[in-house]
Amino acid sequence: RTVYVNGQYLPEHAAQISIFDRGFLFADGIYEVSAVIDGRLVDNDLHLARLERSLGEIMIPMPLPVAEIIKVQAELIRRNDLREGVVYLQVTRGAADRDFGFAEGMQPTFVAFTQAKNLRAAASVQDGVAVDLMEDQRWARRDIKTVMLLAQVLAKKRAKGRGFHEAWLVEDGFVTEGASSTAYIVTADGKIIVRPNSHAVLPGCTRQAIMKIAEELGVSMEERRFTVEEAYQAKEAFLTSASSLVTPVIRLADRTIADGKPGPITRRLQAVYLELALKNSEP
Ligand code: PLP
Repeated sequence: RTVYVNGQYLPEHAAQISIFDRGFLFADGIYEVSAVIDGRLVDNDLHLARLERSLGEIMIPMPLPVAEIIKVQAELIRRNDLREGVVYLQVTRGAADRDFGFAEGMQPTFVAFTQAKNLRAAASVQDGVAVDLMEDQRWARRDIKTVMLLAQVLAKKRAKGRGFHEAWLVEDGFVTEGASSTAYIVTADGKIIVRPNSHAVLPGCTRQAIMKIAEELGVSMEERRFTVEEAYQAKEAFLTSASSLVTPVIRLADRTIADGKPGPITRRLQAVYLELALKNSEP
Protein backbone atom coordinates (compact mmCIF):
# COMPACT_ATOMS: atom_id res chain seq x y z
CA ARG A 1 0.00 0.00 0.00
CA THR A 2 0.97 3.58 -0.55
CA VAL A 3 0.23 5.74 2.48
CA TYR A 4 0.43 9.47 3.14
CA VAL A 5 2.49 11.05 5.95
CA ASN A 6 2.95 14.80 6.34
CA GLY A 7 3.07 15.71 2.66
CA GLN A 8 4.69 12.52 1.34
CA TYR A 9 3.35 9.42 -0.39
CA LEU A 10 5.36 6.41 0.73
CA PRO A 11 5.20 2.61 0.74
CA GLU A 12 3.68 1.66 4.11
CA HIS A 13 6.90 0.04 5.36
CA ALA A 14 8.81 3.29 4.79
CA ALA A 15 6.34 5.57 6.61
CA GLN A 16 7.51 6.87 9.99
CA ILE A 17 6.11 8.80 12.94
CA SER A 18 8.04 10.09 15.96
CA ILE A 19 7.72 8.09 19.19
CA PHE A 20 7.12 11.52 20.77
CA ASP A 21 4.03 12.09 18.66
CA ARG A 22 1.24 13.14 21.03
CA GLY A 23 -1.18 10.91 19.16
CA PHE A 24 0.93 7.95 20.32
CA LEU A 25 1.66 9.22 23.84
CA PHE A 26 -1.68 10.84 24.77
CA ALA A 27 -4.23 9.82 22.08
CA ASP A 28 -4.12 13.57 21.40
CA GLY A 29 -5.65 13.52 17.94
CA ILE A 30 -8.68 13.20 15.70
CA TYR A 31 -9.61 10.76 12.95
CA GLU A 32 -12.13 10.40 10.16
CA VAL A 33 -13.21 7.52 7.94
CA SER A 34 -14.86 8.03 4.56
CA ALA A 35 -16.31 5.18 2.54
CA VAL A 36 -15.20 4.58 -1.04
CA ILE A 37 -17.59 2.88 -3.46
CA ASP A 38 -16.79 2.41 -7.13
CA GLY A 39 -13.61 4.41 -6.52
CA ARG A 40 -15.52 7.43 -5.22
CA LEU A 41 -15.76 9.05 -1.78
CA VAL A 42 -19.17 8.91 -0.08
CA ASP A 43 -20.51 11.80 2.07
CA ASN A 44 -16.97 13.11 2.17
CA ASP A 45 -17.96 16.75 2.60
CA LEU A 46 -19.73 15.78 5.84
CA HIS A 47 -16.69 13.88 7.09
CA LEU A 48 -14.31 16.74 6.37
CA ALA A 49 -16.67 19.23 8.05
CA ARG A 50 -16.70 16.98 11.13
CA LEU A 51 -12.90 16.65 11.01
CA GLU A 52 -12.61 20.43 11.10
CA ARG A 53 -15.10 20.66 13.97
CA SER A 54 -13.42 17.90 16.03
CA LEU A 55 -9.99 19.47 15.55
CA GLY A 56 -11.37 22.88 16.54
CA GLU A 57 -12.83 21.43 19.75
CA ILE A 58 -9.38 20.23 20.88
CA MET A 59 -7.49 23.23 19.45
CA ILE A 60 -5.56 21.48 16.70
CA PRO A 61 -5.36 23.40 13.40
CA MET A 62 -6.45 21.80 10.13
CA PRO A 63 -3.26 20.29 8.65
CA LEU A 64 -4.24 21.42 5.14
CA PRO A 65 -7.16 23.29 3.59
CA VAL A 66 -10.17 21.04 2.87
CA ALA A 67 -9.54 21.11 -0.89
CA GLU A 68 -5.97 19.84 -0.33
CA ILE A 69 -7.17 17.05 1.95
CA ILE A 70 -9.57 15.91 -0.77
CA LYS A 71 -6.60 15.82 -3.18
CA VAL A 72 -4.70 13.58 -0.75
CA GLN A 73 -7.70 11.24 -0.47
CA ALA A 74 -8.14 11.11 -4.24
CA GLU A 75 -4.43 10.50 -4.79
CA LEU A 76 -4.43 7.59 -2.30
CA ILE A 77 -7.47 6.07 -4.01
CA ARG A 78 -5.69 6.41 -7.36
CA ARG A 79 -2.29 5.10 -6.24
CA ASN A 80 -3.84 2.12 -4.45
CA ASP A 81 -6.38 1.47 -7.18
CA LEU A 82 -9.08 1.38 -4.50
CA ARG A 83 -12.53 0.48 -5.79
CA GLU A 84 -14.34 -0.22 -2.52
CA GLY A 85 -13.27 0.36 1.08
CA VAL A 86 -12.36 3.33 3.21
CA VAL A 87 -9.93 6.22 3.40
CA TYR A 88 -8.70 6.83 6.96
CA LEU A 89 -7.45 10.27 8.01
CA GLN A 90 -5.68 11.04 11.27
CA VAL A 91 -4.47 14.37 12.57
CA THR A 92 -2.60 14.54 15.87
CA ARG A 93 -1.25 17.55 17.73
CA GLY A 94 2.28 16.65 16.64
CA ALA A 95 5.53 15.65 18.32
CA ALA A 96 7.16 17.31 21.35
CA ASP A 97 9.02 16.19 24.47
CA ARG A 98 6.50 14.43 26.70
CA ASP A 99 4.44 16.79 28.82
CA PHE A 100 0.70 16.82 29.47
CA GLY A 101 0.54 20.50 28.55
CA PHE A 102 1.16 21.52 24.97
CA ALA A 103 2.71 24.56 23.35
CA GLU A 104 0.83 26.83 20.95
CA GLY A 105 1.71 26.62 17.28
CA MET A 106 2.71 22.94 17.11
CA GLN A 107 2.93 21.36 13.68
CA PRO A 108 0.16 18.72 13.46
CA THR A 109 0.94 15.22 12.17
CA PHE A 110 -1.28 14.22 9.26
CA VAL A 111 -1.47 10.57 8.22
CA ALA A 112 -3.82 8.95 5.70
CA PHE A 113 -4.23 5.48 4.25
CA THR A 114 -6.72 3.31 2.42
CA GLN A 115 -8.26 -0.04 3.39
CA ALA A 116 -9.89 -2.24 0.76
CA LYS A 117 -13.17 -3.77 2.00
CA ASN A 118 -16.32 -5.19 0.50
CA LEU A 119 -18.78 -2.77 2.03
CA ARG A 120 -21.93 -3.52 0.07
CA ALA A 121 -21.56 -7.29 -0.15
CA ALA A 122 -20.59 -7.76 3.53
CA ALA A 123 -22.66 -10.53 5.15
CA SER A 124 -23.48 -8.13 8.00
CA VAL A 125 -24.97 -5.57 5.60
CA GLN A 126 -26.87 -8.21 3.64
CA ASP A 127 -28.22 -10.44 6.42
CA GLY A 128 -28.13 -8.21 9.49
CA VAL A 129 -26.17 -8.53 12.72
CA ALA A 130 -26.53 -9.47 16.38
CA VAL A 131 -25.67 -6.62 18.74
CA ASP A 132 -24.60 -6.92 22.36
CA LEU A 133 -25.51 -4.46 25.11
CA MET A 134 -23.07 -3.02 27.61
CA GLU A 135 -22.48 -0.03 29.81
CA ASP A 136 -21.15 3.07 28.06
CA GLN A 137 -17.79 3.68 29.71
CA ARG A 138 -16.56 6.50 27.47
CA TRP A 139 -15.67 10.05 28.44
CA ALA A 140 -18.14 12.96 28.43
CA ARG A 141 -17.27 14.47 25.00
CA ARG A 142 -18.22 11.69 22.61
CA ASP A 143 -19.14 14.28 19.98
CA ILE A 144 -15.41 14.69 19.31
CA LYS A 145 -14.01 11.95 17.07
CA THR A 146 -10.77 11.38 18.98
CA VAL A 147 -8.37 8.47 18.52
CA MET A 148 -8.83 7.78 22.26
CA LEU A 149 -10.88 4.65 21.58
CA LEU A 150 -9.98 2.21 24.34
CA ALA A 151 -13.54 1.97 25.71
CA GLN A 152 -14.76 1.09 22.19
CA VAL A 153 -11.87 -1.33 21.58
CA LEU A 154 -12.73 -3.24 24.76
CA ALA A 155 -16.49 -3.12 24.12
CA LYS A 156 -15.98 -4.57 20.63
CA LYS A 157 -13.60 -7.25 21.89
CA ARG A 158 -16.08 -8.32 24.54
CA ALA A 159 -18.99 -8.28 22.07
CA LYS A 160 -17.03 -10.35 19.51
CA GLY A 161 -16.03 -12.82 22.22
CA ARG A 162 -19.70 -13.37 23.01
CA GLY A 163 -20.58 -13.87 19.35
CA PHE A 164 -21.87 -10.38 18.57
CA HIS A 165 -20.93 -8.10 15.70
CA GLU A 166 -21.26 -4.78 17.51
CA ALA A 167 -22.06 -3.41 20.97
CA TRP A 168 -24.77 -0.87 21.71
CA LEU A 169 -23.70 1.21 24.67
CA VAL A 170 -26.12 2.03 27.45
CA GLU A 171 -26.24 4.92 29.90
CA ASP A 172 -29.00 5.39 32.51
CA GLY A 173 -31.09 2.74 30.74
CA PHE A 174 -30.93 4.57 27.38
CA VAL A 175 -28.94 3.44 24.36
CA THR A 176 -26.35 6.10 23.47
CA GLU A 177 -24.99 4.58 20.22
CA GLY A 178 -22.94 1.68 18.91
CA ALA A 179 -19.25 1.37 19.76
CA SER A 180 -18.56 2.49 16.16
CA SER A 181 -22.00 3.24 14.75
CA THR A 182 -25.24 5.17 15.22
CA ALA A 183 -28.16 3.18 16.69
CA TYR A 184 -31.78 3.32 15.46
CA ILE A 185 -35.02 1.51 16.18
CA VAL A 186 -38.32 1.52 14.30
CA THR A 187 -41.48 1.62 16.43
CA ALA A 188 -44.67 -0.41 15.89
CA ASP A 189 -46.22 2.57 14.08
CA GLY A 190 -43.32 2.77 11.63
CA LYS A 191 -41.41 5.70 13.11
CA ILE A 192 -37.61 5.73 13.15
CA ILE A 193 -36.14 6.74 16.51
CA VAL A 194 -32.59 8.06 16.83
CA ARG A 195 -30.91 9.81 19.74
CA PRO A 196 -30.49 13.60 19.34
CA ASN A 197 -26.96 14.87 18.81
CA SER A 198 -25.29 16.10 22.01
CA HIS A 199 -22.02 15.62 23.86
CA ALA A 200 -23.22 12.04 24.57
CA VAL A 201 -22.82 10.75 21.00
CA LEU A 202 -20.80 11.24 17.84
CA PRO A 203 -22.84 13.19 15.29
CA GLY A 204 -22.89 10.54 12.54
CA CYS A 205 -22.37 11.67 8.96
CA THR A 206 -24.36 8.68 7.73
CA ARG A 207 -27.05 9.61 10.26
CA GLN A 208 -27.25 13.06 8.68
CA ALA A 209 -27.65 11.52 5.22
CA ILE A 210 -30.25 9.02 6.50
CA MET A 211 -32.33 11.75 8.14
CA LYS A 212 -32.51 13.59 4.85
CA ILE A 213 -33.49 10.42 2.99
CA ALA A 214 -36.20 9.54 5.54
CA GLU A 215 -37.67 12.99 5.11
CA GLU A 216 -37.64 12.70 1.33
CA LEU A 217 -39.27 9.26 1.51
CA GLY A 218 -41.91 10.51 3.91
CA VAL A 219 -40.81 8.06 6.63
CA SER A 220 -41.27 9.80 9.97
CA MET A 221 -38.26 10.09 12.18
CA GLU A 222 -38.07 11.26 15.75
CA GLU A 223 -34.92 12.47 17.48
CA ARG A 224 -35.19 11.27 21.06
CA ARG A 225 -33.46 8.88 23.40
CA PHE A 226 -34.74 5.29 23.49
CA THR A 227 -34.44 2.72 26.27
CA VAL A 228 -33.14 -0.84 26.09
CA GLU A 229 -36.70 -2.02 26.76
CA GLU A 230 -38.00 -0.04 23.76
CA ALA A 231 -35.26 -1.53 21.62
CA TYR A 232 -36.30 -5.04 22.65
CA GLN A 233 -39.88 -4.25 21.59
CA ALA A 234 -38.87 -2.57 18.31
CA LYS A 235 -40.33 -3.62 14.98
CA GLU A 236 -36.96 -3.09 13.31
CA ALA A 237 -33.51 -1.97 14.36
CA PHE A 238 -30.48 -0.92 12.39
CA LEU A 239 -27.15 0.85 12.68
CA THR A 240 -25.22 3.14 10.38
CA SER A 241 -21.61 4.23 9.85
CA ALA A 242 -19.41 5.14 6.93
CA SER A 243 -18.02 1.61 6.66
CA SER A 244 -21.12 -0.40 7.64
CA LEU A 245 -23.50 1.72 5.53
CA VAL A 246 -27.02 0.79 6.73
CA THR A 247 -26.75 -2.53 8.60
CA PRO A 248 -29.87 -4.33 9.86
CA VAL A 249 -29.85 -5.37 13.53
CA ILE A 250 -31.74 -8.65 13.95
CA ARG A 251 -30.82 -9.58 17.51
CA LEU A 252 -30.12 -7.49 20.59
CA ALA A 253 -28.33 -9.26 23.46
CA ASP A 254 -30.40 -12.44 24.06
CA ARG A 255 -33.55 -11.17 22.30
CA THR A 256 -34.62 -11.42 18.69
CA ILE A 257 -35.87 -8.17 17.13
CA ALA A 258 -39.37 -8.82 15.71
CA ASP A 259 -39.15 -11.90 13.46
CA GLY A 260 -35.34 -11.82 13.32
CA LYS A 261 -35.17 -10.63 9.71
CA PRO A 262 -34.13 -7.23 8.33
CA GLY A 263 -37.25 -5.04 8.25
CA PRO A 264 -38.79 -3.24 5.25
CA ILE A 265 -37.92 0.30 6.38
CA THR A 266 -34.32 -0.76 6.96
CA ARG A 267 -34.17 -2.37 3.50
CA ARG A 268 -35.63 0.73 1.88
CA LEU A 269 -33.11 3.02 3.58
CA GLN A 270 -30.26 0.69 2.61
CA ALA A 271 -31.26 0.78 -1.03
CA VAL A 272 -31.85 4.51 -1.25
CA TYR A 273 -28.73 5.34 0.75
CA LEU A 274 -26.56 3.35 -1.67
CA GLU A 275 -28.26 4.81 -4.69
CA LEU A 276 -27.71 8.39 -3.45
CA ALA A 277 -24.22 7.59 -2.17
CA LEU A 278 -23.20 6.59 -5.68
CA LYS A 279 -24.89 9.58 -7.24
CA ASN A 280 -23.49 12.17 -4.83
CA SER A 281 -20.01 10.70 -4.52
CA GLU A 282 -16.84 12.52 -5.51
CA PRO A 283 -14.63 13.15 -7.38
N1 PLP B 1 -20.77 6.65 16.58
C1 PLP B 1 -19.51 6.26 16.82
C2 PLP B 1 -19.04 6.12 18.23
C3 PLP B 1 -18.64 5.99 15.75
O1 PLP B 1 -17.37 5.60 15.99
C4 PLP B 1 -19.12 6.11 14.42
C5 PLP B 1 -18.25 5.83 13.27
O2 PLP B 1 -17.20 5.27 13.35
C6 PLP B 1 -20.45 6.50 14.22
C7 PLP B 1 -21.23 6.78 15.33
C8 PLP B 1 -21.01 6.66 12.84
O3 PLP B 1 -20.52 7.83 12.24
P1 PLP B 1 -20.41 7.98 10.66
O4 PLP B 1 -21.78 7.68 10.11
O5 PLP B 1 -20.04 9.40 10.47
O6 PLP B 1 -19.38 7.02 10.19
